[in-house]
Amino acid sequence: MEKETDVVIVGTGAAGLFCALQLPESKEITVITKDEARNSDSFLAQGGICVLRSEDDYDRYFEDTMKAGHYRNNKKSVEMMIRSSGEIIELLLGYGVEFERRNGELAYTREGGHSQPRILFHEDATGKEITGRLLEEARKRRNITIYEHTEMIDILCKDNVCYGVVTADSRGIVRPVWAGHTVFACGGIGGLYQHSTNFAHLTGDGLAMALRHKIKLQDVNFVQIHPTTLYSEKPGRRFLISESVRGEGAVLYNAHMERFVDELLPRDVVTRAIEEQMKADGKPYVWLSMEHIAREDILSHFPNILRRCREEGYDVTKECIPVVPGQHYFMGGVQSDLEGRTSMGRLYAVGETSCNGVHGANRLASNSLLESLVFARRAAMDIAGAVTEKKEKYTELFSPEQYQEIDKLQQENHALVRQEIERMKEAYEQQHNHDVKCR
Ligand SMILES: Cc1cc2nc3c(=O)[nH]c(=O)nc-3n(C[C@H](O)[C@H](O)[C@H](O)COP(=O)(O)OP(=O)(O)OC[C@H]3O[C@@H](n4cnc5c(N)ncnc54)[C@H](O)[C@@H]3O)c2cc1C
Repeated sequence: MEKETDVVIVGTGAAGLFCALQLPESKEITVITKDEARNSDSFLAQGGICVLRSEDDYDRYFEDTMKAGHYRNNKKSVEMMIRSSGEIIELLLGYGVEFERRNGELAYTREGGHSQPRILFHEDATGKEITGRLLEEARKRRNITIYEHTEMIDILCKDNVCYGVVTADSRGIVRPVWAGHTVFACGGIGGLYQHSTNFAHLTGDGLAMALRHKIKLQDVNFVQIHPTTLYSEKPGRRFLISESVRGEGAVLYNAHMERFVDELLPRDVVTRAIEEQMKADGKPYVWLSMEHIAREDILSHFPNILRRCREEGYDVTKECIPVVPGQHYFMGGVQSDLEGRTSMGRLYAVGETSCNGVHGANRLASNSLLESLVFARRAAMDIAGAVTEKKEKYTELFSPEQYQEIDKLQQENHALVRQEIERMKEAYEQQHNHDVKCR
């Protein structure tokens, strides 16, 4: 059966849900997700969410974000994100999100690359707290319908205008969803990698649509590798050992139990140091020690890390754990402006799928939940303000026969995205080497 809706949102992570909640209740909103609604990277976020605590911190926060991004960030996006952070936290508190407090006041922690503690957190499960509340709220709204196990396999578009998406459900039944506006909030690319902290079903599908339909992409060569994931010989998603553990005093050791790097340097720098050390040691991991963090702080701030490491046979209150870098975040994506608009009419992109240059070449820790929420809200406001567009149905755009072999189509999409990332990485390296030679 076909469906018509005012707005279709692809993804039930923080970006997709927040966008749905920020749209007027007069709009009929359809949200689809490939998996269960709770299975998104937003639920996995451990460390926290950044906020501008006071005007005194503005310049340092801006500089920390730019420095981590190797000054390749779009300054306007950075400014917009930082300036909007206070109102985003207020909205989250309004939805009942709970952050850690000390003596009744919000408590702040610090992670690598931050010159100040400015990160709000909820134990080491901040993403679950935020996204769980957003999901609860979205499920209460009568104008929002969530379809789980419903995958976008294509978009409906003509003359560079988007009219909705083509979906396939878990039985392989293909249907069009016609929409006045379409929002990509489909997360990152970790599912394309062997070692990643991301859910395996996050395979850069928004990028694949962009490549198929000539929608502009940006910075796809910028892929973030997280320095510390728990080393395991088993296949599958790697467990992240949050940066805030190092922010609170955990240290890295080589095979001789010597420190070899300043643990609070930006992620890419720490990653490089670990990779070099692993090579020098001839080991597939280095050690992380939480010996300098008080036992009660480990119990209260990092209960999930404690539990998960125990499951793998390590007691972090007593011993070091082996860690290895893994693919973690995608700074590039579908090119979008400050309102989330893409190069295709009526199509928006928000969250990790999008790229407005806010992270530059490397994301500063705990900026991504914030960025997802800031620009999802702006996209919602832009859509709300748009002259109501008729949900035109272009029957000639959709033919179910076209989608007989969904598996093949998915494989082709994955290959397209992988190739583009490799192509852009090579081009970037060549350009970079050329620039260095010319200097
Ligand atoms: C382990 C881990 C820890 C992290 N910790 C932090 C942190 O402490 N602070 C921070 O700021 N950031 C953190 N991040 C990053 C942050 O969680 C993500 O960048 C952010 O949540 C992205 O949100 P999103 O809504 O864009 O995407 P996601 O939350 O990944 O959601 C993507 C959604 O799109 C759906 N989808 C994808 N493709 C399709 C398709 N074809 N059809 C239908 N649905 C589709 C998925 O099913 C999912 O619902 C962490 C990430 C990881 C993996």
